[in-house]
Amino acid sequence: MQGLMMNRPMRVNDILTFAAEVHGDSEVVSVTVEGGIHRTNYRAIDGRTRQLAKALLKLGVKEGDRVATLAWNGYRHFELYYGIAGIGAVCHTINPRLSAEQMIYIVNHAEDKAIFVDLTFIPILNALKEHLPADLIYVAMTDRAHMPETDLPNLLCYEELVEAEDADYDWPDFPEDTACALCYTSGTTGNPKGALYSHRSTVLHALMAGVSLQTSLSPGQRILPVVPLFHVNAWGLPYAAPLTGASLVFPGAALDGPSVFKLMQDEEVFSAWGVPTVWLGLLAEIKAQGGKPSAFGEVIIGGSAAPRSMIEAFEGMDVSVCHAWGMTEMSPIGTVGLLNKTQDKLPQDERLDLKAKQGRRVFGVDLKIVDEDGNRLPHDGEAQGELFVRGNAIVSGYYNNEEATKGALDAEGWFGTGDVAKIDSDGMLTITDRAKDLIKSGGEWISSIDVENMAMSHPEVANCAVIAVPHPKWDERPLLVVVPTPESSKDVAALQNHLSENLAKWQVPDEVVFVEDLPMTATGKVSKLTLRQRYADGTLAG
Ligand code: ADP
Repeated sequence: MQGLMMNRPMRVNDILTFAAEVHGDSEVVSVTVEGGIHRTNYRAIDGRTRQLAKALLKLGVKEGDRVATLAWNGYRHFELYYGIAGIGAVCHTINPRLSAEQMIYIVNHAEDKAIFVDLTFIPILNALKEHLPADLIYVAMTDRAHMPETDLPNLLCYEELVEAEDADYDWPDFPEDTACALCYTSGTTGNPKGALYSHRSTVLHALMAGVSLQTSLSPGQRILPVVPLFHVNAWGLPYAAPLTGASLVFPGAALDGPSVFKLMQDEEVFSAWGVPTVWLGLLAEIKAQGGKPSAFGEVIIGGSAAPRSMIEAFEGMDVSVCHAWGMTEMSPIGTVGLLNKTQDKLPQDERLDLKAKQGRRVFGVDLKIVDEDGNRLPHDGEAQGELFVRGNAIVSGYYNNEEATKGALDAEGWFGTGDVAKIDSDGMLTITDRAKDLIKSGGEWISSIDVENMAMSHPEVANCAVIAVPHPKWDERPLLVVVPTPESSKDVAALQNHLSENLAKWQVPDEVVFVEDLPMTATGKVSKLTLRQRYADGTLAG
């Protein structure tokens, strides 16, 4: 028997309409590219988004068209999320840190109709323009006074487009499975693949995030998304924040430790979201300042494993760490590392061990681990296997890519994450490694994350990565690549002794190499691919 309830389509613009009515005064603060701070709120943004929608329609953007953005975290980028999706078009966020080749591929593959670009990135487009669609519409995300001198053809001005329209516009009706956003995974091998989010999946994800991360996501709470709007929808914050009435403080291009510290202090930020590398810079600044920003109470860390030493440092200053795991194909949140009341009362060491795990699944995400033959493994905290996921905010395939789509799901319809994991009997997930980063030494697996965690707890290690290098006898051995602290004595034996305290002898890297910097991917993670290439011949010549 069918239920007798209405069936209203879920659309992302209903989130902003709701925020304008219920949380209209919640602030959206942006560090601007032009200089200075810009302040607005959800009520004003809702109006401007309707003006933007009318402007987009006048430019000829139609339902289903892809409209690209190449921009930092700021209010105009946020407006584009809703202005584009609201008319039934698709907001295609592009990561400006991608290689020229990848960017050209993405814009052409997505067949973008228009591209909205921050002033910072105009030179990038200028250099690529011959390789982009000839009829691409370019819009600079600034006002008339800041329009640059450029060779970009027919460059339009964002503020002029918006200001030419009024806010008298009703969002059109369309089915909830209409696409609203597109994000390509950076693709360490092969071409990037597009995750195409729908209105329904995005609204559901915002609700899931809202109920799972309530300390951040509540009315008036001030959140700093360091995680970029150009990568996996800034972990869903542009939707979950207005839905719950939380305020957004956008950092623009200022992502170094001192700038992030100052912004958090000035804007009374409670919760900051981002990948571990960003927090290394903030922690260094907190040390230099002799204390944390005054309202800072929570940090959400994901994208790659948060080192236990980082978790310890934050918790030691009363900043609660929530370690989260997910991926582009999952919108992205899969698990969150909040402790329950019993766990929270455990001795500090045990609490930190739990916080170093990736947490429990959020509602709407099912997890399974399987062996090499696809057989399910028990959730006993011992068995480890490839992690598969299923849910309404998880891709069922890739945009316009039959080949990648074919391999995405298993026979039961689960998505293979490419991560290797264990799951405890109480649901705690531990990511052992990305399958391609695991090290197989003499037939035994070594988790690069485990070795990195130990190395990061050494006081003379500022940052590090562990990769597999070929070895004639053991097939592969771990190589530890260390960015030392300025005061480091670079004592390899002392470092190996430290690692031996918690690792089996055969897991301890025989070789350590000291470097000034680690290569980074476009999404702010250590690029192990680059490191592996650098040390591919198993020597330290790189
Ligand atoms: P890309 O690597 O292309 O930027 P994603 O941002 O989607 O793509 O990365 C998802 C991957 O990042 C996951 O499959 C996992 O390997 C890793 N990851 C994300 N969060 C965590 C975490 N908390 N701990 C360990 N690994 C993580």
